[in-house]
Order: sequence, then structure tokens, then C-alpha cells
Amino acid sequence: METPQSILKQYFGYDSFRPGQGELVQSILSGRDTLGIMPTGAGKSICYQVPALLLDGLTLVISPLISLMKDQVGALAEAGVPAACVNSSMPPAEMADALYAAEAGACRLLYIAPERLTAPAFLDFARRTPIAMLTVDEAHCISQWGQDFRPSYLKIEEFLAALPARPLVSAFTATATAQVRDDIVRALGMREPYIKTTGFDRPNLYFSVERPSSKPNALLRLLAERAGKSGIVYCATRKAVEDVCDMLVSKRLPATRYHAGLSAEERQLNQDDFLYDRRPIMVATNAFGMGIDKSNVSFVIHYNMPKNMESYYQEAGRAGRDGEPADCILLYSGQDVHTAEFLIERSREAEDDALAPAVRQHLLERDRERLRRMTFYATTTECLRRTILRYFGEEAPLSCGHCGNCDTTFEQVDATVEAQKILSCVYRLSERGLHFGRVIIAAVLTGSKSEKIDQFRLDTLSTYGIMADATAARVRQLTDALIERGHLRTDPARYNALFLTPSGNALMRGRDTFVLRLPREKAPAARAAE
Ligand code: ADP
Ligand code: ZN
Repeated sequence: METPQSILKQYFGYDSFRPGQGELVQSILSGRDTLGIMPTGAGKSICYQVPALLLDGLTLVISPLISLMKDQVGALAEAGVPAACVNSSMPPAEMADALYAAEAGACRLLYIAPERLTAPAFLDFARRTPIAMLTVDEAHCISQWGQDFRPSYLKIEEFLAALPARPLVSAFTATATAQVRDDIVRALGMREPYIKTTGFDRPNLYFSVERPSSKPNALLRLLAERAGKSGIVYCATRKAVEDVCDMLVSKRLPATRYHAGLSAEERQLNQDDFLYDRRPIMVATNAFGMGIDKSNVSFVIHYNMPKNMESYYQEAGRAGRDGEPADCILLYSGQDVHTAEFLIERSREAEDDALAPAVRQHLLERDRERLRRMTFYATTTECLRRTILRYFGEEAPLSCGHCGNCDTTFEQVDATVEAQKILSCVYRLSERGLHFGRVIIAAVLTGSKSEKIDQFRLDTLSTYGIMADATAARVRQLTDALIERGHLRTDPARYNALFLTPSGNALMRGRDTFVLRLPREKAPAARAAE
């Protein structure tokens, strides 16, 4: 008897399903509407191709691109699966032949572009032919909030409504946001669908986040530990790419650079230097990486935090394509949040004015929310892999045992008193009508001397020097934590000056405590190395 396993082996040559594939196939075979969310390359096609060979009737596959369709049909034909496609590039006679074969049951899967669905000839065909399943590839194209909405995808709904009997509906996409997922379910009229997100995990990648007091030093240390290996260092801006690359080259490291501001020739040259390992360290903006498939990238270091988890995971995921162990390290500082906010606002401003203000506002809010989720990743003490997988909608165990946070012992630190000192400092300044950013606040609290301190007579504040035995870095770290928890807020329009919030006020007045989970302090020797 034919089973999903025997079909998988017989036609596709695989011994077993990947995690999640089996469940999706079973769900379809049980007759339930099914939505599979899997990243590119995880193996979506198998999930509907195997059932198509077991279902009683034709499977229609909606696919957005002719080239994609042809690839799939070609691959299936090679595997001995009768499949065909109809598209606008075919002569009418050929199209009629394909439909005739499908109607006669000589074809298991028929690929079609959404535009054709409501063409009268095709509708006639579809009404005469028993269709077991309609499956929608790249289903996020149906969502108006998705990156690449295609109005023709709305024809699918129309088509389904015109059929004498509704087939089982399945859909697949790599886009995981809840909004897009809900849109797909609604627009396809899916009935109590089984929804499975799977395949996002990359077990050979080791994720970690560092919060160094000096990023350049931390980067040099990380690269020294990985001498001779190939990797990418992502920076948020072109300027940062230039600075970081210059620094590495001045230290005789084999680095090159890539960003959209370089000439096409230089980009090509640098990219080749990297691909052929003449310069195995690539310092780049997010302009680098699309379509580049270098298998032996053994680390991806983010020198700045990206704007959202989608970008982060896509960029970090360029490491370890060969399946070998690889590292994905994020160097985080509170300043990264401001840079990302600035970049978000600038990119939305640059958008054409065709967008209605309400839509623009909505998109801006959505970007900010995604940045908050990214910042959560950068600052959480929970398992990083779990944080990633849950973001993409996939379940994960509490601890993976193979990431920076799982490998760190954190300790609970009651920092209430220190927090109160910082908050009081901000408060006392505001009484004098003064507002400064975190660097000056730290300078006041640690009692250091500087021009600003003299200029504003900040040494006459009652909070001057009350944290003299702490390092400025420690004060800045605590200040960042106060910002993250909402006890302080920054005003980007005023050079990120700090302001007390109502909850910060309550904490300052002793109505709350401030407990942090911090990595156990490194030995002073290790710290001095940075
Ligand atoms: P997607 O459509 O999700 O981008 P594909 O369906 O093209 O991914 O599959 C990606 C690759 O993984 C293909 O080369 C495919 O043959 C392979 N693949 C899929 N399922 C399995 C499996 N169960 N075992 C081994 N390889 C698989
Ligand atoms: Zn973990």
C-alpha cells in the first residue's frame, strides 16, 4: 500500500520527512485545510506534492511566477510525477492539451498563475474536473500588509466560490507575521485550518549577544579568536562600514567592505575577494548578502543591532550554510536603538507621497514594534534560540543548551539603590531646567571632570560623585536598563536627553524595586582585556 513515506522514498528519494513536514502531510491527508509556514529552503513543496499523489483527484497549485512553475514541473517530471502547468506564455493549443490531459486524470498536479483562474475556459475546465486540493504557494502575496501583495491573488477566493464543490485548501509561505497569517486564513476562507510553523531552527548556529564597553576591542578579540576563518561583520550605516573596515585593515586583518555607496566595480571586486577567500572578512551594510551563497561563512557578527528580527535572522543565517558549527554574535549597545529608530524614520520619510498619512503612520508603528522585539532579543536573559523561534511562531523548549544565554550564569542583582541615584540625578538636573544624555549623567554620577561639567557647574549638584566607586560603563549599563524598563525615556529630538517617567518617579521615591538579571561579573583580568 502507498503511504506518505513510501511516496517520499519512491518519487523524491528521501528516507524521512524533515521536522514538521510529516505533520503537514498528515493534516492534508486527513482532509483538513492546512497552512504551512516555513522559511525558504526548508522544504515546502514536498508538503503538498506527497499528498497530491495520494489524494483522489487533481491538485491545483497556484504559483506567482512562470519560471518557478516551469522549474517545479520539470523536477516533478524527472521524478516520474505527471505534472503540467498552464500560463500566459503558452500557445492556446498547448494550453488546451494540458487541460485535456488533466481532465482525463493523466496529471496529478496542475500549476497555474492566479490571473488565469477566472478565465472562462479555465473555469469551465475546473467545474468539470474533480479537484481534490487547491494549494497556494507564496501565500503571503494575498495579504495587503505583506511585502509583495499581488491583487491577482484575490481571484483565488472568487475562483473557489465558483466551483461546484469546495476542494481542500492548503497554503504555504515563508512570511510568519501574525497579521499576514490571519489575512491568508481569512482571504482563502480556510476552515479551522491546521497551522504549523516549522523549519526555522538552524541547529548548527550558536547565537550570542555581547554588550561590550568598547565595540572595536570586542570585535578585534572575536576576530582574533577566529583567525583564518571567513565571516561577515554587518554594520548599520555606510560610515560605520568604512570606519570598521579601516580599523581592521590597519590591524593587518584581511578585510574588505561592501555598501551601496561604492562603485559597481568596487563592489564586484570586493565581493569576489570575499567569495574566493582572498579577503575572508567582509564588513558590509545589509546591502550585502542577497543572492550570495558562500557555504563556508563561519561567523556573522553584527556590529550594530538591525531594525528587526526578520533582518537579523536573515543576515545571521548566512553563517553555517555548510552545516558546520558557526557563530552569530550581536554586539549590542543602547545607542543601537537610537540609530535604528533614526533609520526607520528616515526610510519611511523617503517613501513616495502616494501613501496616505494614516497608512504611513501605521507602517511606522509596525516598524517601531518590530524594533522593540529586536531590542528584547538583544537584552533578554532567556534562551536566544527560543526567543528567535517563538518570534517566528515556532514552539521551542525553554532552553536549547547551545546559545550564549543558555551558557551564561546570570545572577539576580538588586540595583534599586543605584537606580535611585541615577533617577535622582536626572530629576535634580530637570529642576534646573537641564536635560542631558546618558554619557553626561554617568560623568556627573561618577564625579568626573569635563568641560560640560564646568560649564553648567554640574559639580555643585547634590548627586555629583555619589557613584564615584562605579565605572562609567556600569552607570551607562544601568541607565540603559532603566530606559528599557520604561523608567527613563529619551528624546531623539534633543540628542537623546533623558527624562523621568511616572514609573521612574515611583522607583526614585522607593515605591518600587529594581532587580536585574546580569551575567556573573567576569574576572577583572578578562575585563581588562577589553
Ligand atoms: P522551499 O520551497 O521551502 O524553499 P523546497 O521545497 O524547494 O524548499 O526544498 C528545499 C530543498 O530541500 C530541496 O532541494 C528539496 O529537495 C530538499 N528537501 C525537501 N524535503 C526534504 C527531505 N524530507 N529530506 C531531504 N531533503 C529534502
Ligand atoms: Zn539557548
